[in-house]
Amino acid sequence: MMVFTKKMIEIRNILQKVGQSSTLTLPSIVVIGSQSSGKSSVLEAIVGHEFLPKGSNMVTRRPIELTLVNTPDSKAEYGEFPDLGLRKITDFTSIQRTLTELNLAVPDSECVSDDPIHLTIYSPNVPDLSLIDLPGYIQVVGHNQPLELKQKISELCDKYIQPPNVILAISAADVDLANSTALRASRRVDPRGERTIGVVTKMDLVDAIRGSSILQDKQYPLRLGYVGVVSRAPQSIGGLFKKGSSSGDGSALMNLISKNEDSFFSAHPLEFGPSADVAVGTATLRKKLMSVLEQTMSASLQGTTDAIRQELEEATYEFKVQYNDRPLSAESYLAESLDAFKHSFKQFAEEFGRPQMLQLLKRELDQRVLDLLAQRYWNKPITDLTQSVPEPDALADLPKADPDSLYWHRQLDASTAQLTKLGIGRLATNVVATNIQAGVDKLIAQSNFVNHPFARQAIVEAASSILNDRFYSTSDQVENCIKPYKFEIELEQREWDAGRDHSAGVLKDELMACQDALKRLEGTVGGRRKLNEVMNFVDKARRGDIVVEGESRSGAGGFSAALLQRGREAVFLRDRADIINMRLLAAKSKQCRAMNNKYYCPEIFLDAVATKLASTAVLFLNVELLSEFYYNFPRELDQRLGRHLTDDEIERFAKEDPKIRRHLEVIRRKELLELVLEKMESLRQLDGREKSRRGSN
Ligand code: GDP
Repeated sequence: MMVFTKKMIEIRNILQKVGQSSTLTLPSIVVIGSQSSGKSSVLEAIVGHEFLPKGSNMVTRRPIELTLVNTPDSKAEYGEFPDLGLRKITDFTSIQRTLTELNLAVPDSECVSDDPIHLTIYSPNVPDLSLIDLPGYIQVVGHNQPLELKQKISELCDKYIQPPNVILAISAADVDLANSTALRASRRVDPRGERTIGVVTKMDLVDAIRGSSILQDKQYPLRLGYVGVVSRAPQSIGGLFKKGSSSGDGSALMNLISKNEDSFFSAHPLEFGPSADVAVGTATLRKKLMSVLEQTMSASLQGTTDAIRQELEEATYEFKVQYNDRPLSAESYLAESLDAFKHSFKQFAEEFGRPQMLQLLKRELDQRVLDLLAQRYWNKPITDLTQSVPEPDALADLPKADPDSLYWHRQLDASTAQLTKLGIGRLATNVVATNIQAGVDKLIAQSNFVNHPFARQAIVEAASSILNDRFYSTSDQVENCIKPYKFEIELEQREWDAGRDHSAGVLKDELMACQDALKRLEGTVGGRRKLNEVMNFVDKARRGDIVVEGESRSGAGGFSAALLQRGREAVFLRDRADIINMRLLAAKSKQCRAMNNKYYCPEIFLDAVATKLASTAVLFLNVELLSEFYYNFPRELDQRLGRHLTDDEIERFAKEDPKIRRHLEVIRRKELLELVLEKMESLRQLDGREKSRRGSN
């Protein structure tokens, strides 16, 4: 029936994964004893290796949940710390070191912690067992140890010695059993001594007759009995193999200890031999542990199965009610999210093509054209009130808009050159790239990925890496293809007419923007009247009607500096609106219908040029940037979020979203519980068959 315990231990490990919410536990053997009772020595003798932390400074500070796995088909002996991801440690000194570090990581002020260390040891020489080593009981609190330490250790042990666990109570032979802390603790929770095994260590320290009588103790009778052991090398040789020394992994020492134990007990056949009716020796102890654990597990089978079934029902109910029985895995979640994202991207791609790029780029150029017009045609300088502009104002001073006037020729030629040389390549590429990036951001915000920082970043980077890759060559291409316009621009009437329509719209928008800004200014100074007063003052000062003696920080003419600033802005906006109104009339006029009047109508001409530039740029942007992006982006997404992610990364990704995490956890718990239940059922059958076989024998 060896497989029974092994399978139960497997189940126990699965149950541990079900998580803290689960109160399901299968029995373990809990080892308690006072400090120096020989507890570590017994455990090491069972394992056959020296591996526990040693030292005077209370080194066991956390429970060590030790799983022993018998591997009959392999010679290898090694340990694993599953929580730390440490696998296959074949050097037991290194296991010892890790345990020491894990224990000493508990600060002195706390001294003990109930957070268990999980350690699994695989070996052909160990039985299948699950043991829990606890901090040793102390009699007196040492200096630099907290006063409540004794209490804390005792509470920690109490937590573990509850049913269905088996208690392994360690006491030393040279201490009266009546004084054994371990036995006293076990009494409290197991008064009838039904699930306690007594281990009496240091049998070599008392004479054989006395030793033998301890093992037959009548005062503290235990149903599972006492086992006497000697788990220390003989004094004379022990010095050669100093414990904890670097001499190998300690297994030679273990051999020696075992031989020593054998020869000690066989030297006293009367007291310890077969006729003496006492149990002695580590080998006997091992066998006892195995059979007791098996029986206990078998006894708890029904109860645990019921508990698991109940827990499974709860999980199934939760899955139904909260998640509509919708199956989900981290991979399927990622795949679905990615598909949905790519789908929405496809839609974006369908909606953002050449016409949209053209519009975007044209809007950008409209702004540049407005700036040029303002700079070369519209602006009246208002800089400082102390420098008044001579009357009449600058506009009136300009030469008449005679198409033949050299001045206007130069103005328009310079504006056109400025427009064509403004770095359309960079500008256009930038505008489109920025728009794509913003589009991608928006798609992310509407997708599952919005709750996943890792994926969000991966997508943003996927987009920017393609855009960055294409940026320079695209802007060069675009710049090259608009090059001819830097030398000559020929318009057709159709283009002129379109420019006329469009520029009128732009001017109207600008006019509205000026008026809105004026309104807002009114609001900030406390009404139209106030604003008019300041504007009046600014106007007068500009015309030189009043002399402002130097504007100070505190302002002038009874107006604060801040108010004057607003006044200047308002005057500027008013003048700008006047000019635009004038220009709107001009654009509508008869002269502006004819293309050859371009010097009279720079707004129309520049607008037509901007359209030409934009549409040429868009042809190349489409090939060099947009198509490339549309082709590569989904592939880049697959690359970054699909294939090369490890299972762990996918799991971590999915769990970033708390809703998904809960959903996945319920499913996982359900699956684990189903698996456990299945295993339990087959074990129960095995157990039943075994029992009836025994019964019929
Ligand atoms: P723990 O503090 O309960 O873990 O006790 P240890 O296993 O570290 O043992 C305490 C001391 O008792 C050590 O010096 C051991 O060498 C010694 N010791 C353990 N078992 C025996 C034994 O069977 N016989 C003798 N003579 N000494 C032992």
